[in-house]
Amino acid sequence: LPAAMMPKSALLKVILLGDGGVGKSSLMNRYVTNKFDSHLFHTIGVEFLNKELEVDGHHVTLQIWDTAGQERFRSLRTPFYRGSDCCLLTFSLDDGQSFLNLNNWKKEFTYYADVKDPDNFPFVVLGNKLDVPERQVSGEDVRQWCRENGGHPYFETSAKDATNVASAFEEAVRRILALDDRADHLIHTNTVDLQKKSPPDPTCC
Ligand code: GDP
Repeated sequence: LPAAMMPKSALLKVILLGDGGVGKSSLMNRYVTNKFDSHLFHTIGVEFLNKELEVDGHHVTLQIWDTAGQERFRSLRTPFYRGSDCCLLTFSLDDGQSFLNLNNWKKEFTYYADVKDPDNFPFVVLGNKLDVPERQVSGEDVRQWCRENGGHPYFETSAKDATNVASAFEEAVRRILALDDRADHLIHTNTVDLQKKSPPDPTCC
């Protein structure tokens, strides 16, 4: 088909936030390439990958942004929060502190993304490394936190063995599309391109 006749696909930006080492890069890599590599390079600042998918009949392009969670990278990552359609708050099930830190991640995101209505913004919570036997965080504690913080959906994932990874990203898309019927608007009018949603070259900073 000539490019002009190709159906337009909504570009949805989702961003992975959470402490360094919880598995954000691995989750993105698993979802986009279906591989797990225990020697991934560390993220410096931010990186993104696109993946096309269909959810409930909607064809979308998910632009997944991976960030460096270390405190020293704060000023490198926060400029990229704006324009996110969904935030994936990520912790590791074998690291209790990374769960407690979700409060800070949510605050940092809300502030720098300039979210006007945090109660209605789509956050999805991911408890990663489900395959690791040394679990420190109970599902019930997370579900309670989710209830008290706006009813976020919660997924226990493993980037290593792929458990629930696709489901979590698909839920992110569902949450975005369900938001005040933006679905039709996005599908029919979305011409947002990468240039608009993201600075041209993330490595420049
Ligand atoms: P990030 O700093 O949050 O991006 O975390 P990385 O993706 O770099 O992962 C940190 C470490 O945890 C790496 O050694 C990964 O191989 C490992 N890891 C990531 N996800 C999983 C998982 O689901 N299970 C296990 N067992 N290890 C994981």
